[in-house]
Amino acid sequence: KSSPMRRALLAAFAVGTALMAAPAFADKANPKIGFSIDDLRVERWARDRDYFVEAAKTLGATVSVQSADANEQRQISQIENLIAQKVDVIVIVPFNSKVLTNVIKEAKKAGIAVVSYDRLILNADVDAYISFDNERVGQLQAEMIVKAQPKGNFFLLGGSPTDNNAKLLREGQLKVLKPSIDKGDIKIVGQQWVKEWNPSEALSIVENALTANKNKIDAIVASNDGTAGGAIQALAAQNLAGKVAVSGQDADLAACKRVIAGTQTGTVYKPLKLIASEAAKLSVQLAKGEKPAYNNALDNGAKKVDSLLLTPTIITKANIDTLVKDNFYTAKQLGL
Ligand code: BGC
Repeated sequence: KSSPMRRALLAAFAVGTALMAAPAFADKANPKIGFSIDDLRVERWARDRDYFVEAAKTLGATVSVQSADANEQRQISQIENLIAQKVDVIVIVPFNSKVLTNVIKEAKKAGIAVVSYDRLILNADVDAYISFDNERVGQLQAEMIVKAQPKGNFFLLGGSPTDNNAKLLREGQLKVLKPSIDKGDIKIVGQQWVKEWNPSEALSIVENALTANKNKIDAIVASNDGTAGGAIQALAAQNLAGKVAVSGQDADLAACKRVIAGTQTGTVYKPLKLIASEAAKLSVQLAKGEKPAYNNALDNGAKKVDSLLLTPTIITKANIDTLVKDNFYTAKQLGL
């Protein structure tokens, strides 16, 4: 028979274990969220941050934001730091989709929920993924180009090789281009990935492609607006800006101005306020142990990740006022 002392100790131990076993994030009225962003120096991510912080605040959450400035080691340390701060949820825009397996394992061990934002983190136990449908974005990019330029020599300017989106975009682009390639209407004269989505890298890739093809390039399927900007600078140097179809994505202000000026065929608009506020909502739900609504499940190599994929919109000169109606820009900003 055990002594009263031993029984008391056992009881205390049982209560302690029960407390530890309960989800660390249950009943949190004011959750703490860590937001680890690849690179805040890029226009769109700064907007994502602002909208996210604002939406989280309305939901009673506080956000600690970190920018890795395109450095994978820095991003890992920053996530470790958020774990040490005992946040309830960590939302990550990964610089390199493939290197976060271990640090996410640590976060999960600490009872922290992990959300993959815009870019899917591969081979890791993430709780949720929120993004726009990136394959669809790629389709829209190719569609705007084929409409403007149904035949000829095409160059494929891909995104960063460390970004899973770059791959999805290319898959979407090829889905649309394939029938014309098979028919012989479209010839792919070159394709390259742009390191870190860097516009000056895109500029030199396109300079070289123009030289290699004696300027005979009719279209450039660019995967975002930053790299489209680099491509168009290379075209302008050869007096080809406006004569070669170029796609993009993000509705960056400079790109919208190029679309209006006619040097960029179009862009793909992704309402950042929507993704940021949905992400904030989802994070708070996870912190409270509630079940968010998903509309997809994407395989990241480790699991089928519950996903919420939002819908992107094609923007050309013809419907650029959509951006004003949606309060993404004022008419004055666009010079309309
Ligand atoms: C995003 C794009 C962005 C690019 C470069 C991609 O993962 O989906 O919106 O332009 O990264 O930052």
